Amino acid sequence: LVPEQGNGEERPLDDLVGEMLERPISRSTLLKRGRDLGLTLAASSFLTACASAAGSSSNHRHAHTSDAAAEPTPRHLVLIIIDAGRPDYLDYTEVPNIKSLMQRGTVYDRAWVGQLESVTPASHATIGSGCHPNNTGGILGFYWEDPKTHLPFNSVPLNGTDPSALSVIMADAKVPTMAEYLKRHDARAKIYAASGHKYFAADAAGGPHADFVSYYLGRDDTWGPLCLPGRELPASITSAPGMALPEKALIRLGVQDALVAKLALDVVREEMPRMVILNLPEMDYPVAHVDGGPLAPDAVATIMKGADQLVGDLIAEYERAGIIDDTVFMVIGDHGVIPLERFVDQYEVLRAMQQAGYVVSHDAHTGFFGWMEDLNLAPAAAASVEYARIPYVDYVYFMVENNGRRTYHPAPATADKIHPALDSAYRYLLQTFAGPNGPHVVCFYPERAGTLRPEWKVAWRGDHGGAQWGAQHIPFVIAGPGVKKGHTSHYPARLVDLAPTVMRLLGAPYPRTDGIVLADCMTQPIPTDVQAQTSTGRFLIPRATAVRRKSQLELAALPPMKHKPLPRQTVSQLARGAQY
Ligand SMILES: [Zn+2]
Repeated sequence: LVPEQGNGEERPLDDLVGEMLERPISRSTLLKRGRDLGLTLAASSFLTACASAAGSSSNHRHAHTSDAAAEPTPRHLVLIIIDAGRPDYLDYTEVPNIKSLMQRGTVYDRAWVGQLESVTPASHATIGSGCHPNNTGGILGFYWEDPKTHLPFNSVPLNGTDPSALSVIMADAKVPTMAEYLKRHDARAKIYAASGHKYFAADAAGGPHADFVSYYLGRDDTWGPLCLPGRELPASITSAPGMALPEKALIRLGVQDALVAKLALDVVREEMPRMVILNLPEMDYPVAHVDGGPLAPDAVATIMKGADQLVGDLIAEYERAGIIDDTVFMVIGDHGVIPLERFVDQYEVLRAMQQAGYVVSHDAHTGFFGWMEDLNLAPAAAASVEYARIPYVDYVYFMVENNGRRTYHPAPATADKIHPALDSAYRYLLQTFAGPNGPHVVCFYPERAGTLRPEWKVAWRGDHGGAQWGAQHIPFVIAGPGVKKGHTSHYPARLVDLAPTVMRLLGAPYPRTDGIVLADCMTQPIPTDVQAQTSTGRFLIPRATAVRRKSQLELAALPPMKHKPLPRQTVSQLARGAQY
């Protein structure tokens, strides 16, 4: 077996053998799959020997499944990511196209981010790779401490000067991506990833091997499509009439997402990529942060209508091309959003940490993440934060390094009061970013609590980033060949499970990563996948449940929030001054 690069344990041969034991594969198919995997002649002979042994028994066992019943392996994926899309948004307005996908597919009604930080860069690197932040090169948010220099590190300059920053981190860390492995499986496969102003979302979800990565930014009062260097769309597509608009047109909500959709439909028509990954940014900015997400139901409805229109247009396009039965459609969110009414003063947290030593960097949203100059000072810094009794800092954890292994421990007051189930849940979430650049001190906030940022021009009414169920819970709809129809699963599917699941559905080998194949959505799952999902579920379900229950109890004790309409933001606030 040719050694493959990647962080995960490499199991394509095991997977192929496992698959072969479960269903008949012809000798020629097997040899072709072996060649695609880069198997040596010796390994291929071994496989064909297995095939003749397994094939005969499989034929008996599966005598009742005729060829007609077996669904073809889909070739295409369309993945629509509603940025900061909450599952309850599906009921804010009529979304007939998404609802029809739900009816002819599987819905994970307890899907969650399943990692920290629950923010766009981390989530999209995970969507593209199936790895947690500790294995995507440490993409966990916008700011962290560079573990080598001990200086603050800004992962994505938001002025657009370094739009490929995240895929460079991923390439340096040799993170496996769906794009890379689909191209290994099918050298002619094209992968397209796109967004509006969130170029970093498209960059990370597509990864360094995507063929085309496009985004939108304002230049000279015009809002037009741009591409990442080396991953350009043909100019005939990007310069076509109607692809750019005067920047003032963007003041109307939904126009930016609609431009992403319009460009994507043209790319599908002209290039027919095997994988299309679209980030729709407006639900996050401005709707989540500026409007407060659920506090602005009309704005939410407008964006959901646009997303639904895009789903409908794409389905129509794939029908016209005759490949609708060859395509897996997914609609997900990258994280949720929490409307804010309670605020943690981040300077109080910083002052408390500084009692213990110098604080190099911090990133604070609906949780607080801080880095000390010296990791050994983390326990003292965490205890100092607890001692300060800062309102809405519920629980505090600190990082410990032992023989090179990094783990998180509760600070003393947290250890005394936290429920063991919630402690297990938080430690699981913390472990997902416990790499070399993982934060040294982490504060968990309750629902409806965020970080006060007096220096920002636009007061945020909604945010995400933490472990609250409101920030973690995401829509997760999957439909297409090989996927169960009209099925609802309560399994706590995570973003990290998306890549292994998609690659299994597309029949493309993928290395073992942090995620699992969501076998329970499949009509013909591989038993080893079912076993892996079951055993992971035993670990995961109590943890996801603890996070969900905590939020349910908190929200039940709070009065409903009032909807306060805001004037629409100016274009410059919308398009350029954004902090996400
Ligand atoms: Zn996001």
